This record gives sequence, structure tokens and C-alpha cells, in this order.
Amino acid sequence: MRYSRLSALFVILGFALASSAVAAPAIVLEGARLIDGTGKPPRDNAALIIQGDKITAVGTTGKLARPKGARVIDVHGRTIMPGLITAHSHAGLVAGIANRADAYTRENVQAALVQYEQFGVTSVVTLGLNRDLVYELRDQQRKGGVPGASLFTAGRGVGVLNGTPPQPVAPDQVYHPTTVDEARAAVREMAGHHVDIVKLWVDDNFGKFTKMPPDIYRAVIDECHKHGLRVAAHVFYLADAKALVAAGVDVLAHSIRDLPVDAEITAALKSHGIYYIPTLNVDESFFLLAEQPEVMHDEFFTHAVSPDMLQMFQGQAFRDKVKANPNVPKAKAAFATASRNVKALHDAGVHIAFGTDSGALPERIPGWGEHHELELLVRAGLSPMDAIVTATQNSAAAIKATDRGTLEPGKRADFLVLAADPTTDIRNTRQLVTVWHNGREITPVLAAAPAPTAPPK
Ligand SMILES: [Zn+2]
Repeated sequence: MRYSRLSALFVILGFALASSAVAAPAIVLEGARLIDGTGKPPRDNAALIIQGDKITAVGTTGKLARPKGARVIDVHGRTIMPGLITAHSHAGLVAGIANRADAYTRENVQAALVQYEQFGVTSVVTLGLNRDLVYELRDQQRKGGVPGASLFTAGRGVGVLNGTPPQPVAPDQVYHPTTVDEARAAVREMAGHHVDIVKLWVDDNFGKFTKMPPDIYRAVIDECHKHGLRVAAHVFYLADAKALVAAGVDVLAHSIRDLPVDAEITAALKSHGIYYIPTLNVDESFFLLAEQPEVMHDEFFTHAVSPDMLQMFQGQAFRDKVKANPNVPKAKAAFATASRNVKALHDAGVHIAFGTDSGALPERIPGWGEHHELELLVRAGLSPMDAIVTATQNSAAAIKATDRGTLEPGKRADFLVLAADPTTDIRNTRQLVTVWHNGREITPVLAAAPAPTAPPK
């Protein structure tokens, strides 16, 4: 009988999940510094109790009683924080070293989910450009049959024919309505698949394309709200952001990048409770690897890309292409504006969520991109703690995934054990010792060398 290793893994996983549902012993992690994702100061010498896939208690080691028969794990010297949640990423758009219309396969999407999880990204929203296969994968995963990061999806999304989004995809990966009726029909079809959020694109790609007409996006937003669905918009320009907010959009899936944000948009984002996902990684990705190749001199980077892709990024042809791209100076200006805007909006009290657009292009690298985005947020002026809150509590709230994002009783046991504290240096999120996802402990292939643990008192 032929029996692939992968299906053997699924069988084992299935048994593990089935038996854990019956009576798994509690697990207690004791002694770490704990960042709970709410923005509260870290708790030292914490105790975290999990049962099955849920957190049941959080307290102080020595004061919080260990459940009878619990497995106790000593994590003195470590820092625990919630698993990262990217509310704007993609899967199945890149195959080999390029975007390809035939890239959206089960194998490719699953490989991306496993890579995200390996890098501590425990939940991923694939925000558009998905084939309908994504619904099957998501539903199978929720029954325990698909490994990797928890998958949330915007299904196909709504774009403009011969416009935005420009990626080469199969015809069944994005809707291109030309009338209001077609736009509403697209939403109804996605609602029938119980899509987690709906995506639409309003952009002209630096003046190259025609933008989605306002009557189309207004129809999409209105039809979504009739079905209880939230809408995330790809946006670039301040004027479009204002129009989308006035039309009722729920999430801005990129930064406003043409102009500084003003009092009007700031007040509108706040009063409507809109989530703003800066994706600073997007604008920087147009030039970063060509101009700062030293970021690739790092195992954390090279582990996230294939040898072929690394060779491409390090080659002269890649640097020449970036140098010749007339959009690069515009992307640099957009990156600088986006960095100032996220700081201004954050300081004004706008909800900032977290995303990277990883997986949309070869340069936007799943797993690595999320840790890099945290660093970019800190460089933009957010504190490390505030950056972490965007990527945990706020991203969960942006997609209304109320069962995750913080480390509190009743939430999913999705968290990272780190060898060093990211509130003192945000790059310490890369010091992954173990990743816990749905209460399961995963040792990443690229695990941080465990720091010597302080002896318990
Ligand atoms: Zn995107």
C-alpha cells in the first residue's frame, strides 16, 4: 500500500487532536516573563496553565496552584508572548521564484501555512487572490486536518479587470465586476462560502491603471454589511481612504502613503473604530534587498527563502531591475510617508492592526516579513510593546477572532517562548525557542539556542 509521509502525519495529528479533546493533562509553564498582548506591563515569574488548546489560568509562579498531574515546564529566563497574527498576507501566489497564475495549489498553500507557523505566526489572513480551494482548506483545518498557521481568508476579493491587483492569477482567483449588480453577486457568492472578511482594491498603481469606481466599492461594502461581513480595502491615497471610510469600510489594509494624514481622516478612523494596517514592509520591499543586501546575511532570512530565491535576490540582474524601476523613488517616498502616518495615527488613538502582504510577491517573505515589520513599526516610533499589541490583540480584533490574540483565560494557547525579551529589543521576537499553537508545542527547525536558564529561587 502506498502511504505518503504527509498522510501518515495527518493520521497521527488526527489521533493527537482526538485524544487531547478527551482528557489531556494540564500543562504549566513557570518562571517566564509574560507579555499578554493587551499592552499591560510584562508580568515577571509568570505561570501559564493550558488545558487542551486553551489557556485556563495566568498568574505568578508559586502562587498559582498546579493542577493535579500537570506537566510542568520550567521557562525561567525566557519571555512568553502571544503568537503573531498577520491580518494581511497571502499564500499560493508565488511558485519557485516568481508570481505565477498556476501557483495556487493545496501543496503551496499548506507549505506557506507551515512556514508561517515555524516563524511564530500562528494565525494568517490570506487577504484576497485565493481560489475557492481556500474554503475547503480552512474548513478541513478547523476539523484538525491541515497543518500550519490557522487560516482565515478573504477568498477571491474584488478587483478591477486589467487593473489592481496586478498579480498574474487564475480567472477564479479574483472577481472583476463591471456593474453594481455583478459586485453584489460576487459578495453573495463569498458570503455563501462564509468568507472571514471581504477584500477590495482601490488603487491605480502609481497612475498606471484605472481605479475601481466608487459605485462598485459602495455596492460591495453595502452588500457585505447586509451579510454581516467586514470589508478591508487596499488603499494608497488619502482621498480614497476618506471616500472608503465615508462608504463604511471596516479595515484599511495598507497605509495612506501619498500625503500626511490630516485631522479629518484621523477623526473619521477613530469615530468609526476602523482598523489601520500599515504594511510598511510593502513599500520597503521594492528596494530593501537590492539596496541593503546585508539583511540577507542572517540565518533567520536565509531559512525563510529557497536557495533559488536567495540566489536571485543576491544577483546583479535583481539589483539592476530595482535600479531601473521608475517606481522605486515613489516607493521610497511612500515608505517614508507611511512610517510617519502610522506614528501619527497611533499617537492619536487609531486602532493599528498588523500585516505585511507577505506572500504577495517573492520579496515579501512569509515568516521573516512579520518579524521585520515589527522592527519597521518600532523604527517608525512605536514602542516595542505597542508594536507587539498591533500584531496580537489588535489583529485578532480587526478580524473579530475573539478567541485569540491575548494570553488570558479562555483564549487559545497560541504563544511563543523566546530566549530574550522583545520589549527591550524588538528583534528578540526572532529568538524563538518554541512555538505553541492550539496548545501543541512546536520546536522550530531554526530554534534559538536556549539561553542559560536562571535557577528557580
Ligand atoms: Zn495584499
